[in-house]
Amino acid sequence: MSDQEKRVQIGEKRQDTKQPTVLPGIHRYQFFTNLKDRGWTLNLDRVALFGIVTALLATVLKPLFHGNAATIYCYECRACYATQDRCPVGIMFQAELAVAGRVLDYDRFIRNGGLKCIRCGNCQSYCVQYLPLPRMFEIMQDDTRSAIRNGIVPRYSLERAMNEGLVGKEFIDDVVKALA
Ligand code: SF4
Ligand code: SF4
Repeated sequence: MSDQEKRVQIGEKRQDTKQPTVLPGIHRYQFFTNLKDRGWTLNLDRVALFGIVTALLATVLKPLFHGNAATIYCYECRACYATQDRCPVGIMFQAELAVAGRVLDYDRFIRNGGLKCIRCGNCQSYCVQYLPLPRMFEIMQDDTRSAIRNGIVPRYSLERAMNEGLVGKEFIDDVVKALA
């Protein structure tokens, strides 16, 4: 069958014999065989691509807007967990704080002890990229404090932080006021 004969009009049902061939004897699989429905698949592709690009842009732009660009470079390799008892306040998962700072996840930051970090810098030497972890955590602490004052941080998150001793003395007043 020639290409001319295989051509299908809009609205016409595409017969198996008219499916495009990718290799001799092998027809390309098409979920929508009816050409008038193909606009859906094209638009779904575009919507999916738009969603992926938007998510990538948000991942990069959010930390940039909040002055915490270094968080973008965190590999999430978790080598910094080797800090262990050299963290004076017992924070175990520094990468969680870095990622929470990147995506502005206040609850994640608080429950991993971000508000009790004293920015001593002990964990920085364990980072494979020597990222400025104390500065990254300080910026996120400031963002979290603003969020607490603006009532954005969920109450349950603050209550749990108080119960589990996850609030450093610099932030106690703000948390207590938010819970009053
Ligand atoms: S900078 Fe913060 S997380 Fe890192 S070791 Fe010091 S107190 Fe712990
Ligand atoms: S070691 Fe550095 S790059 Fe790896 S997870 Fe920790 S902060 Fe991120």
